[in-house]
Amino acid sequence: MDLRPTPEQEALRAECRDWLLANLPWEYGRGLPPRFDDLADEVAFLRDWQRKLSEARWVGITWPAEFGGRGAGPLAHYIVQEELARARAPELVGRIGINLVGPTLLAHGTPAQQQRWLPKILDASELWCQLFSEPDAGSDLASLSTWAERDDRRGGWRITGQKVWTSYAQFADWGLLLARTNRSAPKHRGISAFAIDMRQPGIDIRPLRQITDEYDFNEVFLDGAFAPDDHLIGALDDGWRVSSSTLTHERGTNPRQLVIHAQLLDELFRLACENGADSDHRLQQRLAAAYVEVRLFQLHNWRSLSRLEAGKPLGPEASALKLYWSEMSKRLHDTAMAVLGSASPLWWDADGNPGGGRWQRSWLYYHAASIFAGTNEIQRNIIGERVLGLPREPTHPGER
Ligand SMILES: Cc1cc2nc3c(=O)[nH]c(=O)nc-3n(C[C@H](O)[C@H](O)[C@H](O)COP(=O)(O)OP(=O)(O)OC[C@H]3O[C@@H](n4cnc5c(N)ncnc54)[C@H](O)[C@@H]3O)c2cc1C
Repeated sequence: MDLRPTPEQEALRAECRDWLLANLPWEYGRGLPPRFDDLADEVAFLRDWQRKLSEARWVGITWPAEFGGRGAGPLAHYIVQEELARARAPELVGRIGINLVGPTLLAHGTPAQQQRWLPKILDASELWCQLFSEPDAGSDLASLSTWAERDDRRGGWRITGQKVWTSYAQFADWGLLLARTNRSAPKHRGISAFAIDMRQPGIDIRPLRQITDEYDFNEVFLDGAFAPDDHLIGALDDGWRVSSSTLTHERGTNPRQLVIHAQLLDELFRLACENGADSDHRLQQRLAAAYVEVRLFQLHNWRSLSRLEAGKPLGPEASALKLYWSEMSKRLHDTAMAVLGSASPLWWDADGNPGGGRWQRSWLYYHAASIFAGTNEIQRNIIGERVLGLPREPTHPGER
């Protein structure tokens, strides 16, 4: 692990920070992004922000320059993510496109598909969603049953089925969809990946209410929705391999969560000093543990980053990092609730605004971290089998 930044990396960090100082729509280091009552207003604000970022080439750092990226390595990406998070910049509204769809198209898309979709992903002029999970296919994604039927007359596929937990589907122009194209092949081999136009008849999007009282994700019902032949991504029946590269990008290093949790830790310490919780020796222990854990998360990130920068694959290390930070986050938020003490069940801020309780919302939200991008039980299986060499989980009833 080599932690010394090169002069080029220092220069990139300074350039990014200078740009943020000049262009951030709120005060650097103090302000926070505006809060919106309506998610649609928030999405409009965030689209505009991503467009500005992409014009200055702060989005898609590792993407080739011909598509608007910088063609830089993972460390440069990490530095820019750190600076954005430090400036309290909100997550990119087009993050599914940037983090998942873009790398998938770069690995498996045709040149025409790359030209068609990548530039519009970068500037958020088109938003994407990820149509993988189904009611009976989450962790066991290969069991998915959404069916793509050949339509020779129109030259494409008619797709029918149900997806669920589809984040931001209600705002998406396109979906990266997995559907079964071959019922007689073994279940991993009969799946194909498609880009599907979300604004066509035959697609019904129904928002789902979350524990935080927000509606980020949806059920998506497909009833004969159409995908032409040139919207097939990768080869026919090879969608499992295509989706593997999407899923790999869901894990790996996580500079954004690192900076967010370092900032949460600072706020937690401030809160504990203000309300006197810092004089309770049991809470002192928990606060110290939270400090140590965030520092460990930082070291863990740096180790993974060193591997990536040296061109080595992460493998099951990515699962260990995902498992670690999601559990760390829950412990840190539990400590925050203990520091808040008798105020912890309150959802209203001092002015009586519902949802004003930032810690409470954050505590609820981060419960999802041990579910999205692969549940923690699945990460433990991966670590058990591929790192510790434990016997493989039976894949069929009765198999050992
Ligand atoms: C905030 C959020 C956003 C999401 N956004 C998207 C999105 O945009 N697009 C999308 O496609 N999906 C999305 N998901 C879905 C997510 O990928 C799934 O929730 C996840 O893969 C788990 O699937 P499941 O919910 O069907 O649970 P299941 O797979 O049904 O699991 C239920 C429980 O059983 C456990 N379990 C299952 N199999 C095993 C096993 N083999 N060994 C041990 N334990 C096991 C799980 O760990 C879990 O605790 C999102 C989820 C969340 C929480």
